[in-house]
Amino acid sequence: VADLQILLTTLNAKFIHSSLSLRYLQSYCRRDFPKMIVEEFDINQPTGLILGEIFRCQPNVVAFSCYIWNINQTLVLARLLKQVLPALTIILGGPEVTYDAPEVLQEHPYLDFIVVGEGEQTFCELLKYLREAASCQTPLNSNLTNIPSLVYRQETEIVQNPRRQLPTRLDVYPSPYAQGAADLGPKLAYYETSRGCPFRCQYCLSAAAPGVRYFSMERVQSDLRTLIAAGTPLIKFVDRTFNSNQEHALTIFDFILNNPGRSRFHFEIVADLLTDKMLDYLARVPPGLFQFEIGIQSTHRETLSLIQRRIPQETMMPKIKMLQAAGRVLLHLDLIAGLPGEDYQRFQQSFNDVFALRPGRIQLGFLKLLKGSGLREKAETFGYIYSATPPYEVLGNHWISYAKLRQLKDIESVLDTFYNTHRFDQTINYLLARHYPTPFDFWHDLARYWIARRYHRAAHQMRNLYQYLATFCAEKGFADLEIILEFLKFDYFSFEKSADPPAWCRVVNLPGSMRKKSSLVTEHHLVHYLPQLAGLTPREIYRRVRVEAFACDVTAGVTTVSNTPTLVVFDYGARDPLYRRAQVTRVPLDSP
Ligand code: SF4
Repeated sequence: VADLQILLTTLNAKFIHSSLSLRYLQSYCRRDFPKMIVEEFDINQPTGLILGEIFRCQPNVVAFSCYIWNINQTLVLARLLKQVLPALTIILGGPEVTYDAPEVLQEHPYLDFIVVGEGEQTFCELLKYLREAASCQTPLNSNLTNIPSLVYRQETEIVQNPRRQLPTRLDVYPSPYAQGAADLGPKLAYYETSRGCPFRCQYCLSAAAPGVRYFSMERVQSDLRTLIAAGTPLIKFVDRTFNSNQEHALTIFDFILNNPGRSRFHFEIVADLLTDKMLDYLARVPPGLFQFEIGIQSTHRETLSLIQRRIPQETMMPKIKMLQAAGRVLLHLDLIAGLPGEDYQRFQQSFNDVFALRPGRIQLGFLKLLKGSGLREKAETFGYIYSATPPYEVLGNHWISYAKLRQLKDIESVLDTFYNTHRFDQTINYLLARHYPTPFDFWHDLARYWIARRYHRAAHQMRNLYQYLATFCAEKGFADLEIILEFLKFDYFSFEKSADPPAWCRVVNLPGSMRKKSSLVTEHHLVHYLPQLAGLTPREIYRRVRVEAFACDVTAGVTTVSNTPTLVVFDYGARDPLYRRAQVTRVPLDSP
């Protein structure tokens, strides 16, 4: 039997990502094709470089895993590969080629095969066929009819075989981490304990296949042991609704707690399914160990009904509030702009509802009409205009114009920079309390300033962002600018132990003996207020903390701000595990 040189590859969205699908395919085929080469690239690498790297392997077969973020570049690469290696067999698979596979083959004559849907078995059977065909010179296409979920050419025709019956027990797929996870290095690991989702949201591809299938708990625990032992910094569970089965989820949480390591764990959950038992459990987990991504998408009842997202808001929101109040789990809340039934005005309400929960992160996303999704089929009914090429982003519909969606994009860029970093929380809280009727009004105002100066077109150093916010407030002509800048200074020193404070940071003169800050350690017994510093020498303490004076009491909240000078100690050796802010302690000016 001839030895085919097979290369399995994909282009990840970022260098830091890793491909779970390649690992599954490689694991499933390992016994039959132990020499298969697996190479991961990312979409930020030049196409010429990737072409050269693939060419260097001199493959007979190249298989690409295709998603909305890489399909354009993948097709360019595939065409180039066929030009430089005309005998090459090219296989595509993945969600981006699953729903219109015959059309993709028709439009791209340099492609040979498409593996549709869950790919492990089909891909392996196809490789076996290709090996046979190469060794016995079997005419291409004989026996291909026996491979379910395969799309291929037969002379001038495109043939689409019937879909494969999917295995109910997912353990038939060998572990993607059977050979360990050390090769991941600093990259984040994707992992799944189930496939499928019990919900049917019409914008989502997970709604297409019915039912949820699970891996066995033994298998999951063995894989997690491997990932934790490898020191993987972040393990992202891609289960579509991780808590669809509460006992399954709790067993995994327990396992993680009983097997501590350096990893953090990210889950996509549906908040409505959180029971009291689960909420109670989550109020006691170590802070920062778990991150939850929760899709709110919209708080508009009519919109939720149009997209068939049957997750009751009335029960979901209080549960999110409880999770947030417990302060143990970092919450990412998702909103989607461009959904049917939601105009710009109503979207503001959804935004303000989500902002009121003050989650760790707000992801303002924009609807994409994915191939195979229910909403794409109703595009005409809802008056959608959208990009014909990936990522199929919506440009307008009966309810919202492109101009308004553009404004929301601008807001998304400032939200990500100024909210999701949590670097400006106190300043923003103060501005919201004193100067804006709703959070949306503030973000809209800041976005206008940001765009007018073309800041969205450049990368910025963190230090400059504080300056931009200071300038924004100055240009707004706020009468209480001095107080705002004190809050901004507080935010700045909550993260930065800067030896060289920025120009906008006003130095506040303290009365009399308090003037010399370095004398505080001995004269005012800093350790009395920060017991965690006990046993450190004054030199060690000053390497670890910063003592800063403020013209007003920035620690007392934003609604009543007293004008009495305040002394604050920032302890950078005791940062909070969720946002990495320094611990803040107010030291009375008349301390002993
Ligand atoms: S959006 Fe989430 S909950 Fe809805 S079908 Fe998709 S994966 Fe399931």
